[in-house]
Amino acid sequence: MRINTLEPWIDSKELEQLTKVIESTYVTEGPLTREFENLLQKYTGSKHVIAMANGSLAIFAALKAMGIGPGDEVIVPNLTFVATANSVILAGATPIFCEIYCDNFAIDLSQAERLVTKNTKAIIPVHLYGKPANMSDVNDFAKAFGISVIEDAAQGVGVFYKGQHTGTMSSIGVLSFYGNKTMTTGEGGVCLTNDDNLAKKLYKLKNHGRSKKGTFIHETIGFNLSFSDLQAAVGIAQFHKLKDIIDKRFEIFNAYKAGLNGQVQLVDYNREKGEMPWVNSVKVSNPDKLEEFLSNKNIISRRFFYPLDKQPCYKGSTYINGKYTKSHCVYESHLSLPSSHHLTAQNIEHICESILKFTDKQPAQNLDFVCTTNCCDLKLLAN
Ligand SMILES: *Cc1c(COP(=O)(O)O)cnc(C)c1O
Repeated sequence: MRINTLEPWIDSKELEQLTKVIESTYVTEGPLTREFENLLQKYTGSKHVIAMANGSLAIFAALKAMGIGPGDEVIVPNLTFVATANSVILAGATPIFCEIYCDNFAIDLSQAERLVTKNTKAIIPVHLYGKPANMSDVNDFAKAFGISVIEDAAQGVGVFYKGQHTGTMSSIGVLSFYGNKTMTTGEGGVCLTNDDNLAKKLYKLKNHGRSKKGTFIHETIGFNLSFSDLQAAVGIAQFHKLKDIIDKRFEIFNAYKAGLNGQVQLVDYNREKGEMPWVNSVKVSNPDKLEEFLSNKNIISRRFFYPLDKQPCYKGSTYINGKYTKSHCVYESHLSLPSSHHLTAQNIEHICESILKFTDKQPAQNLDFVCTTNCCDLKLLAN
């Protein structure tokens, strides 16, 4: 049997909610979307929750609402899903790639400082792989340079920083409900904001510039970034499973920890610190070979995001500014393991045994090959 990296937990609960929507015939954005937003409002503590078609467009809407566009620069981490940068490009602004920290994969503020110009308008910290970015530091940084903060918390559902939900500690934060995220609506996302004015702008932006549907008088220029009650139905059912999903992720993490027995390093998650193993990953010097080895056993793992400066689509662009040694190091030394809700203890034992078999065969791990100069990960790998 094939074990995928991340599969959603979807069953009769979602079907029940969907059936209600279909029977009501109200399939576009309506009462269930409001209900879904209210649930997220209570859970995250955000004053406003505005549902959007997907996480990428939610980032685009956040930039638009804040008036960021052509001529403006936005600092983004060099290791993230391309959506973070492409949403900036869609808004007409210029993303500037910044180095990351090796320990929590978040944007490295000591490097960001170097990238600020008179055109810099915002920084987008990304809460990646279930670890929160250091938001106090990010906000101090933004304040010092007079720029705004938008959080990409697409992977941040259930991830907290100093007790606050990710996505709620800046002007606007974004969550995603794509199929492999902690909870899913198929496609979908939300903007979180505590600012009444930005909330109004976001609502208008997704509704062709109107503050209410049912009129053809448009106060401002907007787009159609709407959610649907079909998505909301799935989202409501998923929301009621969220606690179980998160508990199970920690069970999976602990099972990997036991199974790998300290012989292979696992990315660590501390529940007290608000971290959440959305996906579990190991640190190895040859993730490409391990990926292939596992794939031959029908175990599907995933490499980390390909650093943006190495992406063919950004080749030769002005977005690239520096060497990004640490992003490369993180990419070259991590592999994400199956972490779906339905995994059994036996599944994980089998995966761990396979990994240990692989590392037995590859005893001489050449760390220099992985990490060259100034990489903090080198120390972690070596001990
Ligand atoms: C998934 C993801 C997005 C985009 O969300 P979509 O809902 O798929 O558009 C953006 N940033 C990060 C870091 C993501 O993981």
